[in-house]
Amino acid sequence: MGPGFVVSTQLGQEYAARKLIFATGISDVMPPIEGFADCWGISIVHCPYCHGYELRNKKTGIMANAERAFHLAGLVQNLSDKITLIKSEKEAFDTNQLQTLEKHQIRIVGQRIVKVNHEGGYIRSLVFEDGRIEDFDALYAALPFEQHSNVPALLGCRINEQGYIVVDAMQKTNIGGVFACGDNSERMRSVSGAVASGVKAGAMVNAELVSEQF
Ligand SMILES: Cc1cc2nc3c(=O)[nH]c(=O)nc-3n(C[C@H](O)[C@H](O)[C@H](O)COP(=O)(O)OP(=O)(O)OC[C@H]3O[C@@H](n4cnc5c(N)ncnc54)[C@H](O)[C@@H]3O)c2cc1C
Repeated sequence: MGPGFVVSTQLGQEYAARKLIFATGISDVMPPIEGFADCWGISIVHCPYCHGYELRNKKTGIMANAERAFHLAGLVQNLSDKITLIKSEKEAFDTNQLQTLEKHQIRIVGQRIVKVNHEGGYIRSLVFEDGRIEDFDALYAALPFEQHSNVPALLGCRINEQGYIVVDAMQKTNIGGVFACGDNSERMRSVSGAVASGVKAGAMVNAELVSEQF
């Protein structure tokens, strides 16, 4: 066997490979808000394309910085006309954005959420830092994330400013023989996108392996 990699597992097994594909995903970092993590993926979500239909017509909060909140508001107003932007950061919306938000009767609350009251992951109300409690049904939240595995970075794979592994159109990283696919290397998270990039990575690994031994 030529140059390659040895993968060691937690159980002490070792596997030799000439190529590596990282399909290791990312981890969303939950904020330290009581009840938040219990609702993640149920009534607190990151993406209207994944969850918008189920959460349509609900009283919806959007928790994100100004740029992201405005972007999400544009998508979510297509699904609900009961939207509140919950924004505790100092940076502000510009005049055009404010006019657009007003036109769509989108409220802005400049308060931090300190607790999510819920039943089985379904939000009943949000508690704000001033003690105010308001009923909500759904919350979109733009959370920071980290690579699930630090092995690609330890191997020297380039990670971009947004935190994704840098790959070319064929899912190759900057390290020879190392590929990445799925959420760890693309911004638009979806199962179908992850599968599609995995197919590409698999095909390219096979192409490299057969051409190297031809
Ligand atoms: C709340 C939520 C809801 C979503 N809803 C939808 C939806 O409705 N529709 C849709 O299309 N997409 C949805 N997505 C996105 C979708 O889940 C992802 O795009 C998809 O799962 C990405 O697949 P992946 O294989 O790249 O990563 P993952 O699904 O994250 O899988 C990565 C795997 O690698 C494992 N792993 C990581 N590091 C190591 C290591 N060192 N050793 C061994 N194993 C390791 C992890 O444990 C994990 O099992 C949702 C995401 C979230 C967070």
